[in-house]
Amino acid sequence: VTDWQGKNVTVAGLGVSGIPAAKVLHGLGAKVTVVNDGDDARAREQAAELEALGVTVRLGDGATLPEGTELIVTAPGWKPDKPLFTAAAEAGVPVWGDVELAWRLRGLDGREAAPWLCVTGTNGKTTTTQMLASILEAAGLRTAAVGNIGVSLLDAVLGEEPYDVLAVELSSYQLHWAPSLRAHSATVLNLAPDHLDWHGSMEAYARDKGRIYEGNRVACVYNVADKATEDLVREADVEEGCRAIGFTLGAPGPSQLGVVDGILVDRAFVENRQKNAQELAEVSDVNPPAPHNIANALAAAALARAFGVPPQAVRDGLRAFTPDAHRIAHVADVDGVAYIDDSKATNTHAAEASLAAYESIVWIAGGLAKGATFDELVAKSAKRLRGAVLIGADRALIREALARHAPEVPVVDLDRTDTGAMLAAVQEARRLAGEGDTVLLAPACASMDMFVNYNQRGDAFAQAVRELGAGA
Ligand code: ADP
Repeated sequence: VTDWQGKNVTVAGLGVSGIPAAKVLHGLGAKVTVVNDGDDARAREQAAELEALGVTVRLGDGATLPEGTELIVTAPGWKPDKPLFTAAAEAGVPVWGDVELAWRLRGLDGREAAPWLCVTGTNGKTTTTQMLASILEAAGLRTAAVGNIGVSLLDAVLGEEPYDVLAVELSSYQLHWAPSLRAHSATVLNLAPDHLDWHGSMEAYARDKGRIYEGNRVACVYNVADKATEDLVREADVEEGCRAIGFTLGAPGPSQLGVVDGILVDRAFVENRQKNAQELAEVSDVNPPAPHNIANALAAAALARAFGVPPQAVRDGLRAFTPDAHRIAHVADVDGVAYIDDSKATNTHAAEASLAAYESIVWIAGGLAKGATFDELVAKSAKRLRGAVLIGADRALIREALARHAPEVPVVDLDRTDTGAMLAAVQEARRLAGEGDTVLLAPACASMDMFVNYNQRGDAFAQAVRELGAGA
């Protein structure tokens, strides 16, 4: 679509992606109608703002396809089985997500469009995308971390700021609705069951993640330890000459990046033909140097190297990177016990990664399980557990898994949801911990039963640790 003048576009969903999309499309001359399921005070306020611009808004009716719709631009979270999309399919109306829209609007103003280096995966997306942006920046490139973080994709594509390259975080929902996206290079970091209610099955979830590799020009970066990601590369239809590049925490094979004697090593993009490996950085340059995070750093390095970034920039970029809050954040040491906030570990796959990073752990876990089971997580982590303190609505599920796979581990089952619950949890954890142990908040669950979000949960933990420290 190059001529938007008078085109009938329906935007599905008021919200972080819908409102900017409606404004941009309206600005391009399209006839925009926004449909939204909800009809609350906030929606009315947002609707009024758009209507003042000349956009039509239909509140409380996200199911009916407006007459004459030629294109739907949907919020990524809208499920594909919604009646709106059934009606669109019957009428032959295409559906784009926010990412597809941004992709199609690239270069609209005649400027050369910046290539995209894309990151998805069940866990580690934000961290890896930010590491990548940091490395690209260290190489002197004009770049930004975009997607669900930092700058919005539409702003990055249409704003004043010129970019050489973009580091783009993509969710499985966004990929589902982005059929024509073609990355310069991309990675699927890992694949574990998540959001299956939305996608319908693990196969469908993997298929949507795998779209990130479609049409890649230079490199498809996969996780050697996660065969499913390599399978997705093999199934993808890529440009001629595009390479499959693996990353591994072990010694790298040819066309891989990996780790040798505490050094991050690249055997895929070696400039000096005399050498068969290029040293990039030290493990201690990665913050924090936990195994899963070293994997994130290798993936980011692989994408940056595919874009031609020199080794020095990988090291400088990793050193300059600081993780967002609540991702394995070291809060304090009290009486020889380290307190770590990984409140962002909201699913079992993430919690497994952070539990693997420590030796003797008092684990604070629980919350909303979102249909997850905990047997595998507990069985794999049992030998590292010194104790466990369970909080939240679904803590019985974790308690039962502990009884099955780690019966000797002492467990405190905290039946409290009041504001003092986290302090009580931290006090119990302290009782269970010995010198040299780590008290790790890695809930493996969502937070909304007790907290507004994972940020608030992590803040409550940090606050409790400070109170503990003050009393010590
Ligand atoms: P996402 O954007 O995919 O949610 P984040 O970078 O915000 O990922 O990290 C979320 C949580 O996932 C972290 O707190 C950590 O517990 C875990 N995590 C990060 N990277 C990985 C990885 N490569 N493998 C497994 N778990 C990870």
